[in-house]
Amino acid sequence: VTGLNKVFRSRGGLFKPAREVHALRDVSFSLVKGETIGIVGESGSGKSTLGRCIVRLERPDSGHLSLSGTDFMHLTGEALRRERHRVQMIFQDPYASLNPRTRVGMAIAQGPIANGVARGKALARADELLELVGLGGTADRFPHEFSGGQRQRIGIARALALNPELIVADEAVSALDVSIQAQILELLEELKQKLSLSLLFITHDLRVAAQICDRIIVMQHGRIVEQGPARDVFLAPREAYTRELLDAIP
Ligand code: ATP
Ligand code: MG
Repeated sequence: VTGLNKVFRSRGGLFKPAREVHALRDVSFSLVKGETIGIVGESGSGKSTLGRCIVRLERPDSGHLSLSGTDFMHLTGEALRRERHRVQMIFQDPYASLNPRTRVGMAIAQGPIANGVARGKALARADELLELVGLGGTADRFPHEFSGGQRQRIGIARALALNPELIVADEAVSALDVSIQAQILELLEELKQKLSLSLLFITHDLRVAAQICDRIIVMQHGRIVEQGPARDVFLAPREAYTRELLDAIP
């Protein structure tokens, strides 16, 4: 990620002034294959925007994205369709993106089917993935039949179905209680080892980031203000802002 900038502009209305939010300011960092990087910062600091730019859900205004040598920033059309599976995102509430009337096996198989994998093969792989995330034998169930933590496992299985190299997890455990959080973090760690994935782990909780990340990047107002090994950032932060984030942890 090199020199990424993103500005959101809203046109003003009669009673509403025009607004300009500089969500990302010259953000640069690199992630080594197999590494977990944590992106932390308070609400509105630009974490999700960064994640969404990286998975190409949002178009940065300037800068550059490169994935193992592929220019990931300027891919369009067929090339984008072919390459975008390499980076997958998981969200805080996977329920929001699950169709209530689609059985979870099919929900997991949909991506691969859209990419040309035969239906039977994709469904068989969905069974395997459910097994892998600890939900074996549940392919025929509907999303509402699962708990929040289980739904997050489905979200993970769905991302994995596309064989990504990088997973961007945006507040993926934030809505879960602490013991379920720990289980999901453990699962991510285990899958990372097994599938040699890289992970960009977005969270407002520096403590959660310190548990799972190799390196931590701290963002404020769209800018990186501190980055370093997780231990250093957590135990000996250099910036006052990072210390404030630490102090905010109950
Ligand atoms: P949180 O911890 O609350 O999820 P965040 O760090 O993920 O916050 P972003 O969602 O990246 O923050 O938002 C960064 C800034 O960009 C905020 O000021 C937000 O209001 C603004 N923003 C984000 N998305 C849009 C959009 N689609 N249109 C306009 N402004 C946006
Ligand atoms: Mg966010």
